[in-house]
Amino acid sequence: MVQPYKHEPFTDFTIEENKKAFEEALKQVKEELGKHHDLLIDGDRIRTDNHITSTNPANTKEVVGTVSKANQGLAEKAVQSASTAFEDWKKWDPRARAEILFRAASIIRRRKHEFSAYLVYEVGKPWKEADADTAEAIDFLEYYGRQMIELAEGKPVESRPGEQNRYIYTSTGVAVVIPPWNLAFAIMAGTTIAPIVTGSTVVMKPASNSPVIAAKFVEVLEEAGLPKGVLNFVPGSGGEVGDYLVDHPKTALISFTGSRDVGTRIIKRAAEIQEGQNHLKQVIAEMGGKDTVVVDNKANIETAVEAIIVSAFGFSGQKCSSGSRAVVHEDVYDEVLEKVKERTEQLTVGNASEENVYMGPVVDQGAYDKIMSYIEIGKQEGRLVTGGKGDDSKGYFIEPTVFADLDPDSRMQQEEIFGPVVCFTKAKNFDEAIDIANNTEYGLTGAVISDNREHLEKAKYDFHVGNLYFNRNCTGAIVGYQPFGGFKMSGTDSKAGGPDYLALHMQAKTISEKF
Ligand code: GLU
Repeated sequence: MVQPYKHEPFTDFTIEENKKAFEEALKQVKEELGKHHDLLIDGDRIRTDNHITSTNPANTKEVVGTVSKANQGLAEKAVQSASTAFEDWKKWDPRARAEILFRAASIIRRRKHEFSAYLVYEVGKPWKEADADTAEAIDFLEYYGRQMIELAEGKPVESRPGEQNRYIYTSTGVAVVIPPWNLAFAIMAGTTIAPIVTGSTVVMKPASNSPVIAAKFVEVLEEAGLPKGVLNFVPGSGGEVGDYLVDHPKTALISFTGSRDVGTRIIKRAAEIQEGQNHLKQVIAEMGGKDTVVVDNKANIETAVEAIIVSAFGFSGQKCSSGSRAVVHEDVYDEVLEKVKERTEQLTVGNASEENVYMGPVVDQGAYDKIMSYIEIGKQEGRLVTGGKGDDSKGYFIEPTVFADLDPDSRMQQEEIFGPVVCFTKAKNFDEAIDIANNTEYGLTGAVISDNREHLEKAKYDFHVGNLYFNRNCTGAIVGYQPFGGFKMSGTDSKAGGPDYLALHMQAKTISEKF
């Protein structure tokens, strides 16, 4: 029997001992920075001439590490390796597969701050966010391991006299995993080990902004006993390697997390049947969000302010779950806006590898330029309340920014900015607030801050999002507690960290015998 699942606790950095331990990890990892990481194909490390260089977005001169870059020839080798390994791996006892995940979780738990420190350097995470990212990676390993053990039994079906029916889950095949850089550890790990534990084999192409943490995770899985060929690691460009892997006739499953544009492109390409392909490809795609915190007139104002701040500025707004819109009842609009302005101006922004700041930089120059151009649009479309300035001289820093009085249909309220920007819109009443909250093409997360039970009941049905939160922020879903995934253009609603997730990676089989 395995112990029941419980999520990994977060580290309290107000405790001096924890703070010291984290500073020590930052120091240690700093000494390791700059190392090279090879590809992994069929258990062999392969070094190529082309590299991806990963730098610290808070200090762009600092190289976190380099990784070898694959080309199409190597991508082909990786798919062949995964395809060969599948024949054996799918027959492994599901429990033995799960135990590899449990061992990996233990290894990471033991070196937790080290991995979090890598996240601080590689994607500029503040300590709290880095710690939560590592905790979530551990959670995925523990949760999916347990889920596989349960699923191995199949599900009950009826049998008539003289008949025996069974309903079981079988492994799918070669899975291509394309994770994002924002939950650089958690989502990368979760989307990789879900197909693995179900008996599929994986070709993983990490995000170009966070390949080092991915390389570290690959090492952990090897140490935990993953056989060769089950996981192949091929960093590379989307256009060259990503498309090749998606199009490959042997690819059976694609698990993607990232932008709406790339996600929809993958769905389209995966629908194209290639020569030699004798199956349909399954696609799991988790894409963007334009998420709203709704504040009612009967609401705890402190709760509302806290929810807006945390949802908008956690990890500099670089989550698909970020609350980039605040839709506030006219009765409390001015008060909430004023308090959010005050709180925003107290937030600390800086280099988290040097100090425990609330907000770090944004991830790269492209993100910086895009967010700054949205800030200019915001000045045309609305009223700048606070923030708005950026500084990319050392790293990609942007002030937490608040805009007011936006039209619900404005670009600022419709397009995903993926940065530390929150836009306020005034609503006449609660019904109108929900209508505004629903008026984007996305449907990922949302929060309602209200003391009115009828309004909360209405929101349950009318607020069309995959993750709906009451009287709290709309970010930070916990594995096994708040399964995560969205509606509409936010994706396939696969609910990562939920009870149905692994089954989506498998093929159900009915076996019926007459006797
Ligand atoms: N699961 C995360 C959350 O609930 C967000 C994931 C993402 O941004 O990709 O905040």
